Amino acid sequence: MEGRRVFVLDTTAMLSAQFEPGPAEVVTVQEVVDEVLYGGLAPQRISTALSTQAIKLKRPSKSSLEKVRQTARETGDLPRLSKADLNLLAAAYDELVGGRDVVVVSDDYSLQNTALRLGLKVMGVGRNVVREVREWIYRCLVCGITYSTPLTRCVVCGGETDRVVKKT
Ligand SMILES: [Zn+2]
Repeated sequence: MEGRRVFVLDTTAMLSAQFEPGPAEVVTVQEVVDEVLYGGLAPQRISTALSTQAIKLKRPSKSSLEKVRQTARETGDLPRLSKADLNLLAAAYDELVGGRDVVVVSDDYSLQNTALRLGLKVMGVGRNVVREVREWIYRCLVCGITYSTPLTRCVVCGGETDRVVKKT
C-alpha cells in the first residue's frame, strides 16, 4: 500500500468523477458525502461507490486537523474553508504523513492553495489549478491600504476590502 497514489476528492470532484475499481485509491470524508447527498445531485452513483468501497471514507486525526487549521490561517484561506474542506485536507494530510502520494482533487481555490502549502499535490476538476502557494493580503477598495489579516472593513476609512495576491 505504501507509496501508492491516493486521490482525495472534494464535493465538486465527487459529483463529476466516474468511479471504477482500479489501482488508485479514492478517499473522501463524511462531511463531503453529506454535502453531496444533501445536494441530491448524484446520490445513487455515490452511494454505490461507497458501498462497493470504490470510495473510502476516512476520519481525519485531530493533530492533522489542527495542522490544517494552522496552515490555512497562515495562508489566509481559513475564512474561506468549510468544515468539510478542513476535514478533507486533514484526511489528505494523514495519508501524506503515512507516506502516501496524495493528490487533492478540487476546484476550490482556497482548498488548493492550502493543500499545496501542506505539501499535497492538487488537481482541478475542470477549471484552474493553483500552481504556486499564494499569500493573500486584504486591500481597501477606497484608500488602498493593505492588511495582512482578513477583515471586511478598512479600519482607516471604513471602506470595503478585497482579497488580493501578495506580490513577493
Ligand atoms: Zn480604507
